[in-house]
Amino acid sequence: MRKITAVLLTVVMAFSLAACGSQDETDAAASTAAQTEAAETTAAEETDAGESAEQTEASQSAGNETADIVIIGGGAAGMSAAIKAAASDVRIILLEKQGFLGGASAMASTGINAGGSDLQMETEVPYTADQFYEYALSWDYGYDRIGYRVVPVREDYAYTFAYNSADAAEWIESLGVELAASSESHSLQLADKSQGGFGSVYVSALLAELEKYDNIDVRTNSPAVEITADENGAVSGVVVSGSDGEYTIDTTAVLIASGGYASADSEFYQTYAPAWDGYYSYGAAGATGDGIVMADSLGAQLLGMDAITCTTATVGEPNQAGALSVADALKGGAVLVNSEGERFVNESAGTADMMEAIKAQTDACAYLIADAATLEETEALQAVQEAGKLSEGATAEELAKALGLDAETLAGTIASVSEGIAAGADEYENETFVSDYAEGPYYGVLVKPARRIATGGIVTNGNAEVLDENDTPITGLYAAGEVTAYGAHPLSAATIFGRQAADSIVAFLGK
Ligand SMILES: Cc1cc2nc3c(=O)[nH]c(=O)nc-3n(C[C@H](O)[C@H](O)[C@H](O)COP(=O)(O)OP(=O)(O)OC[C@H]3O[C@@H](n4cnc5c(N)ncnc54)[C@H](O)[C@@H]3O)c2cc1C
Repeated sequence: MRKITAVLLTVVMAFSLAACGSQDETDAAASTAAQTEAAETTAAEETDAGESAEQTEASQSAGNETADIVIIGGGAAGMSAAIKAAASDVRIILLEKQGFLGGASAMASTGINAGGSDLQMETEVPYTADQFYEYALSWDYGYDRIGYRVVPVREDYAYTFAYNSADAAEWIESLGVELAASSESHSLQLADKSQGGFGSVYVSALLAELEKYDNIDVRTNSPAVEITADENGAVSGVVVSGSDGEYTIDTTAVLIASGGYASADSEFYQTYAPAWDGYYSYGAAGATGDGIVMADSLGAQLLGMDAITCTTATVGEPNQAGALSVADALKGGAVLVNSEGERFVNESAGTADMMEAIKAQTDACAYLIADAATLEETEALQAVQEAGKLSEGATAEELAKALGLDAETLAGTIASVSEGIAAGADEYENETFVSDYAEGPYYGVLVKPARRIATGGIVTNGNAEVLDENDTPITGLYAAGEVTAYGAHPLSAATIFGRQAADSIVAFLGK
């Protein structure tokens, strides 16, 4: 396990290089980190594959092995749960399908939310657990104040969420992550943002803590493929796909902590959220919805599966992770047109408005147009150009041809943008232009929103127990984090309910 952790720490350090700043800047940095992750995974996989193979062989030669608790997924939820449970006399197997731990948690840019923590109570405008509870009870289908999708949660879930949030925040601090409270957003962020993104620092601390426990058996490159149940519907084991084939771990307690489904395939979306099929993914590569499918097959209740938060303008491939965000171009003078070549929105609109505006266009996509000066100012667009995906035309008509748009309409749109800038009165009141769009060359690329974070999922109660359609807990089945219908604030949900699941499971096992 020590060898695994050393490799994992190396991978997570790549995330630490991501800069921190505004939401858009940090998202762009997270995207870069995600790509670094992809590149470094190969190396990590090579090392870890050998170790996992040994473990797999050992387990197969001995027949079905047993564990007190099997945790599926090694992000913030899975690691928080493992660490909390490991203080009791239990043997834990933590399965991770990727070659490293961290998941989307390592990509988190800004911070966590809580109420009543010491840091929050010391600010000029204290934010209490009661206020957080009231806020959690108000969640309904829609967007929160920063454009994230929310879903309603049960009262007992909201209670655990709010009244354990300070404890979770203070526990994160106890791992060595120095936090500072923001009264404006009721969030806790890194006190020293030069350390990197919030998630990379937090995951590094979790990995270091995990290392301390001999009763946590971490298995990377080990996807869970099925959770089995006995004739009464109680959990009886987990089937794992090892490098030598499938094997089964017998257990009576399983925590699903497998994250969201931003990067799930077309089959998943056709089953659970057809309207989102074909979008790009800006989420973690491992966020493929496996836990949803496994829980669904055991009769779990699902809620809000179409509640997905997007990065609004990206260049990517359908249903695949690794989309490039060009959101900073929209705040830096780029123009958006639809498939008809016409503008339709103030390009500097907020996340929720922009997402709805693009989704309402033909094929739910748009074309981002820039002139040479705008391109020169925008690193994200330069990255798209370097990836060979930016079309170019000496004139608006030539660019239209390259993009497959109507030449006359696009030329008219660009001329009208230029006239608006000259008159100081843009038709859509965009005030971010950095040039006059008076002459070519012009550049353009097809953009779509990319799925980033899922808010809907498995319904759980305040004990992190998975509920069936009758609101009855499925015996031995727990879930925490982005895989659940968690309401809002995913990293808080992962930490609070990972730790709650550990307590519930230890009590269930009578340990
Ligand atoms: C760019 C970006 C920025 C974000 N910023 C913030 C932020 O500032 N604040 C915030 O609250 N949230 C943020 N989020 C969301 C947040 O990071 C995640 O929702 C949260 O960390 C999820 O934690 P988790 O433990 O539930 O899942 P994850 O961290 O995704 O971990 C799940 C793990 O399970 C593994 N897994 C999946 N399937 C299987 C399987 N079959 N078997 C074994 N393992 C499996 C995955 O590979 C992964 O490692 C951001 C997300 C992104 C993408």
